[in-house]
Amino acid sequence: QWFLKISKVKEKIIEENDKNVTWYPDWVKIRYDNGVMNSGDWCISRQRYWGIPLPIWVCEECGNVHVVGSFEELKEMSKEPIEKDFHEVDLHKPWVDTVVLKCPKCGGDMKRVKDVLDVWFDSGIASWASLDYPRRKDLFERLWPADFIVEGEDQVTKWFYSQQAASVVAFGTVPYKKVAMHGYVLDEKGDKMSKSLGNIIRPEEVVQKEGRDPFRFYMLWATTPWENLRFSWKGLAQVKRMLNILWNVYILASTYMSLDNFDPTKLNPRELPFRKEDKWILSKVNSLIDAVEEGMEAFYLTRATRAIEYFVMEDLSRWYVRLIRKRLWVEKDDPDKLAAYWTLWKVFDVLLRLMAPFTPYITEEIYQNLIRPFSGKESVHLEDWPKKDEAWIDKELEKEMEIVRRIVEAGSAARQRAKIKLRYPVRQILIETEDEMTKKAVEKLNRLLRDQLNAKEVKIARVEREIRIKPNFAKLGPHFKGDAKLIAKWIEEQNDRELYEKLMQGKLKVEIEGKEFTIEREHILVEEELPDFLVGEEFDHGKVFVDKTLTRELMMEGLAREFVRRIQEMRKHLDLDVNDRIVVYIETTEENRELLKEMLDYIKGETRAVEVKFEEPKGYVVEWPEVEAKIGIEKV
Ligand SMILES: [Zn+2]
Repeated sequence: QWFLKISKVKEKIIEENDKNVTWYPDWVKIRYDNGVMNSGDWCISRQRYWGIPLPIWVCEECGNVHVVGSFEELKEMSKEPIEKDFHEVDLHKPWVDTVVLKCPKCGGDMKRVKDVLDVWFDSGIASWASLDYPRRKDLFERLWPADFIVEGEDQVTKWFYSQQAASVVAFGTVPYKKVAMHGYVLDEKGDKMSKSLGNIIRPEEVVQKEGRDPFRFYMLWATTPWENLRFSWKGLAQVKRMLNILWNVYILASTYMSLDNFDPTKLNPRELPFRKEDKWILSKVNSLIDAVEEGMEAFYLTRATRAIEYFVMEDLSRWYVRLIRKRLWVEKDDPDKLAAYWTLWKVFDVLLRLMAPFTPYITEEIYQNLIRPFSGKESVHLEDWPKKDEAWIDKELEKEMEIVRRIVEAGSAARQRAKIKLRYPVRQILIETEDEMTKKAVEKLNRLLRDQLNAKEVKIARVEREIRIKPNFAKLGPHFKGDAKLIAKWIEEQNDRELYEKLMQGKLKVEIEGKEFTIEREHILVEEELPDFLVGEEFDHGKVFVDKTLTRELMMEGLAREFVRRIQEMRKHLDLDVNDRIVVYIETTEENRELLKEMLDYIKGETRAVEVKFEEPKGYVVEWPEVEAKIGIEKV
C-alpha cells in the first residue's frame, strides 16, 4: 500500500485551520481538531479497476520509484513516443498501464504500480482540480482558496479533512475560508426517513404539492442549518401563507399603481410629503438589509429568513398596508398618495432583492412587473445586492411605532370589551404611562393613533379613579376590640376620598361619641374604581382607556361608515372600476335616515356616488338586516 505521511503535517493542518478557517457552528472545529490529532497516515492506494490511477512508476531493474507530475512529463519519459495529444488519450486504465518509462537512473523499464487512488483523494483535491489546476493557473490564482464549503455532519472527519490534508501537503495551507456543517432532514417526529418505516418524503413530491419557493424558504427557515430538521407540512404551509400575503400586497400595490400610471422615475423622493408610517417602513426595510446580511454572513440562515418573514407579515402586510389603504383610494395625483406609492415601490425594490436568493421564482415574477419597467435590469437576479440607505434609518421611530402598535392592540381589546365596533368613532382615548418614549410616541404618531383607534382624540392622561373605602375588620377587631363596630360605622360615614387622602399622609386622631381613637391606613380597605364611561386595557408601558360615551355626532359618523362599507362591498361585487360613478338608493328606518342625511357628502365621496336617494332601491339591491336597511346601487 501507499501512504501520505500525515503525521508529518498534522500540526501544520491544525495551525493553518486555526489561522484561516471560520467554522459554522464554531464548536465543530473542536471535533475536527480532535479528528485530525487522532488520524493516522493516509492510505491512498486501492486495489480496484475504476478510479484515478496512481501516477507511480517503479523500475524493474534498480527499483527506482518515480511519481509522474504531468502528461508532458509522461511523454518525455516514455520509452515509446506518445504521438497523441492529452485530449486524445484516456489517462485511466487500461491505456495508462501500457506506458513504459525509461528509468533515469539505469535506463531500465519502469512500469506503473497497478493501484488506483482512494476516492477521498479525488474529493480532497476538488478545490483546485475543479479549477483545472495545474494545467491552468489564472482561475486558481483568482478563486483559490474557496470562500465557502458546506456538507453534512458525517463529513467533518471526511471531506472537510481530506481537502485540508491534501491541500496542506500540496500547498502548505488550507483550501477554504469558511466551512459549514448542516444537519439531516428527519420526519416530523424526529425519526430518520427510511423505506422500512415508510416515512420518506421525496423532494419532488414537496415541489409538486407546495412549490419550489416555499420549499427552499422553509428549509432555511425551519431550523438553524446545523441542527436536524424535522420536516413538517404545517411549517411549509406557514411559509406558503407568508408568500401568498406578499403576493397579495403586490397585487394591491400594482393594481392601484397601474390605474394611475405610476412611474417612480418621474418623482423626486425629496419632494414627496412622506408620512411617519412611510418613513417608518422605509427605515424598517433598510434595517432588514442589516438583519438579512448578518444572518447570511454568520450562516444563521434561519435568522435571515425569519427577519424577512416578520417584515412581510407584521410590518408590511399587517401594519403598513393597513395604514395606507385609505390613501390609495384617493383620486388623481394626490402627493400624499404618490408618497405611499413611492414608498411601497421602494420597499419592493429592496425586499425583492433581499428575498431573491431564498425565493427566486416569486421575486422574479413580481420584479418583472413592478420593478423592471423602471430599473433597466433584465431580472432581479441580475440586480446588485441592496445597500443600506442610512438616510432612511430612524431607530427611534421604529421603537415608537412598536409602542403605537401595542397601544392600538390594547385599544382594540378595550373597544371589544366595551362592545364598540371599530367602525364607531369614540370621543377620546386616554393613555396612562410613566414611560417617556411612550409619551413621545403618542405625541409624534398621534394622527396615526387617532386613525387606527378611530378616536377623535388620543392623549396622555392620568385617569382619576373613584376611591371606595371600607372598614378593614381584620385589623379593626384585634386593635379596637369592643369599639371596632363603632369605628367601622364612622369610617363608612366619611367622604371616601377625603379620608383616604388624610390617611395617606399619616395617622388620624378622631373623637367618636366622646372617645378618642387613632386611625391608621391599615384600618381601611381601598378600592379604586374607574369612572363608568371608561374601559381600560393594559399594554407593556401602561394602560389604554377608551371613552365609551357616544354622542349624536359620533353615531352619525359611525353609521355612515357602516353604510359606506356595505356600498363599497357592493361595488366590489359588481366589479366596478375605481372610476365608475354610481347612484345609491337607501331604504331604512326613520332614525337611520335622519343620521345619514347629515353625512351625505361623506358617503358620496367615499363611495363615488353622484347622488344618494332615500327611496325604493333600484339596480343591484342587497338587504342588510344588521343596519335595518335595503341598499341599491346603479352605475351611472
Ligand atoms: Zn532503474
